[in-house]
Amino acid sequence: MDENLIDTHNPCELADPMFLENETLFRNVFEQSAGGMALVDCNGRLLRVNHALWAMLGYTEAELLAMTLPELLHPDDHQQYYTNTQTLLADAVQVDHAEWRYLHKQGYHVWTLVSMALVRDAIAQPTCFVVQIQDLRAHKERDVADAAHAQALHLLFEHSSQCIILLDPAGIVLEINQAALDCAGLTRAEVVQYPFWEMRWWSITPQTQQQIQAAIAQAQQGHSIACEIDVLAVENQVATLELLLKPVTDRTGQVIMLIVEGRDITEAKRARAAREQMEDRIRDAFDYATIGMALLTPDGRWLKVNQALCDMVGYAEAELLTMNFQSITHPDDLAENLHYASQLLGGVIRNYEMEKRYIHKRGHIVWVSLSVSLVRDAQGTPLYTVAQTQDITRRKRTERELERQTSELTRSNAELEQFAYVASHDLQEPLRKVASYTTLLARRYKGQLDPGADKYIDYIVDGATRMQNLISDLLTYSRVGREQLVMEPVPLREIVDQVLSDIGATVRESEAVITYDVLPTVSVNRQQIGQLFQNLIANALKFHGHAPPRIHITAELRSDAWIIGVRDNGIGIEPQYAERIFAVFQRLHSRTEYPGTGIGLAICKKIVERHGGSIWMDSEPGQGSTFYFSLPLP
Ligand code: ADP
Repeated sequence: MDENLIDTHNPCELADPMFLENETLFRNVFEQSAGGMALVDCNGRLLRVNHALWAMLGYTEAELLAMTLPELLHPDDHQQYYTNTQTLLADAVQVDHAEWRYLHKQGYHVWTLVSMALVRDAIAQPTCFVVQIQDLRAHKERDVADAAHAQALHLLFEHSSQCIILLDPAGIVLEINQAALDCAGLTRAEVVQYPFWEMRWWSITPQTQQQIQAAIAQAQQGHSIACEIDVLAVENQVATLELLLKPVTDRTGQVIMLIVEGRDITEAKRARAAREQMEDRIRDAFDYATIGMALLTPDGRWLKVNQALCDMVGYAEAELLTMNFQSITHPDDLAENLHYASQLLGGVIRNYEMEKRYIHKRGHIVWVSLSVSLVRDAQGTPLYTVAQTQDITRRKRTERELERQTSELTRSNAELEQFAYVASHDLQEPLRKVASYTTLLARRYKGQLDPGADKYIDYIVDGATRMQNLISDLLTYSRVGREQLVMEPVPLREIVDQVLSDIGATVRESEAVITYDVLPTVSVNRQQIGQLFQNLIANALKFHGHAPPRIHITAELRSDAWIIGVRDNGIGIEPQYAERIFAVFQRLHSRTEYPGTGIGLAICKKIVERHGGSIWMDSEPGQGSTFYFSLPLP
């Protein structure tokens, strides 16, 4: 043995020569021990350490030999160390075992099992302590891991949102977790050690209790049972549980425990029912819609069609589902339809509407109004198109009939106008002759024949003059409809001023006062609008009451047109004649009361309509009238 082992100041004396003789043996045992070993003098100084110890504590041998054992110990274990050494020195025990924490050189502590024995020499003097140090880390870690594992399982059990209940093979509750207690509204004491089928969950109906008993019986036979079941939950609410009963068996296949897992799916079930109800409604809306409804693949195959669509095109649902829209679309409408469809798929448009023709299974054409939109998934990939189809065959037929009638009407109107023009134009010439010769007759022979003849001559002259006026007005009327309209921007004020100057004499005679608002410049046919103002102002002067005529012309800008008004203070018109006065030859007075042909307002109407506007009248009999006409903005 090394001389270092002898501490001359130590009460332990190494005097036995046998001890040194056994050194080789001792060294081998000491060095090769798998556990840490040390010889420590009575002051705690390390005299000798083996390889296993310095490997355990991270120091070199030299470092350890410069230290004392207490220095290596966790401060909390110092007291224990002193007690142990004192006990050994006092011969109270031969070997002392203790769990101490040594400090690793890296600073952390190492749990160890320490056995300490006191070595005495031949005269029983204490020489040193033999200290065996077994690394307990592996055990400790396993203990910690086991504890952590158990705790994790416990936490999992307690904090699981699932209801978990453990039953013994007879169905008696061994354990129940918080989720299950919460769901049932029970305490642990009310459940544990009682039969599972007596829990108030199952008291909802007698059948439920029988059902759960049957399930337990099956699980006892080693079968896993899954079911969805309504139970009486906390606060007497009905809850739906998704239940799973699983038997746990030992190696011999014996059932040693039953595990019950339950999930409260009340909300999920309610949501599912609501969703299904909504789906049913949507399906009903689809199926029973009176318009054709369909879902199609992006390339046009029918995916789902309703009865209305089947009826419209004459195919059964099963037939349509094997076809695409292209195959029943009229060839003349296909290109337009495909153009829209590709714009829709390309994201250029969000939906489209068009009128198109399908070819009915029996071969005839069905006109439809089609609205199509596209449904995409979250990534924007087209899923399917939704098409709504309305049968407009009848409307199309009516439209065609209307078009036919309109063109027929236009044609007959044109013919009538032509006739009126020709008639009035050609009548003018012979009439002019009759009128000039009767006027000549009257001038030459008046007073030379008998008084009766003079009267007749007067009648003829009057009749001829009237007929001339009528023909002239009729000609004007037919011209208004026939003439090519040259439109130009004209200040209306210029037109009104011209009219007033033309009828200046009449205005002065009747002592009329004519005023007007600021009048706009409008794109019109100057000559026709002049005629319009002339007719309206002339009527306002003609149909005056006792007071001298007061005429005011107004102009108001509306969103799409100028509204021009010619207001007078004349005799007024009964409301029931508001329409009639605009028809040809319609007059409300005899010629002796007010002269005229009854064409003036008809001409006004035609002029306004040719300008794209309309004319109407507002009047209070005895108070005056206002004639309005609109001139649309370009
Ligand atoms: P005419 O003036 O030749 O009788 P119109 O077509 O111009 O023919 O007018 C038709 C009828 O409308 C007139 O006979 C008259 O009864 C009524 N009328 C037209 N303008 C006015 C007016 N400003 N005030 C009252 N009555 C009017």
